[in-house]
Amino acid sequence: MKIAIYPGSFDPITKGHLDILKNASEIFDKVIIAVARNGEKKCFLTVEERVKLIKESVTDFDNVEVDSFEGLTIEYAKKQGAEVLIRGLRAVSDFEYEMQLSQTNSALCSDIKTVFLTTKPKYNFISSSTIKEILNNGGDISKFVPDCVHEYLVKNR
Ligand code: ADP
Repeated sequence: MKIAIYPGSFDPITKGHLDILKNASEIFDKVIIAVARNGEKKCFLTVEERVKLIKESVTDFDNVEVDSFEGLTIEYAKKQGAEVLIRGLRAVSDFEYEMQLSQTNSALCSDIKTVFLTTKPKYNFISSSTIKEILNNGGDISKFVPDCVHEYLVKNR
């Protein structure tokens, strides 16, 4: 059984994340989408809100689980019996950071490989930070996030 972890902030989950997740779920037997509890990063939504919104967004996938974790991603992956980390690539600007992260993880644990996936072009430009910016300025985010995320953010933020 090939298990992959898709770690990230998902602050909030977007249609870009979901497209990566869909591709990953077609390749691997099980995918765990896991919200990183990162003390240093200032987030817009709580971990609990992010997990709840992800759970509501992934009901169509039967081999996807939702979780959160603290500490090193590779330690979490080992605990889950996963051999693969999924990360997404949008543009060249993601490349440097993602390459550094994957090589650091590989130096820490060579058994766990990072697999990079891309989205359909129509989701490629979407980022959680742009969504927050649009929302804070009263714009319409409905095209960029799952319906449940749109409803929740309009009601609660
Ligand atoms: P992090 O804080 O770990 O970067 P994010 O939630 O911002 O967490 O992103 C998680 C992963 O999903 C990253 O690898 C990021 O590059 C990828 N990603 C986010 N949005 C998109 C998108 N629209 N297309 C492709 N990859 C994406």
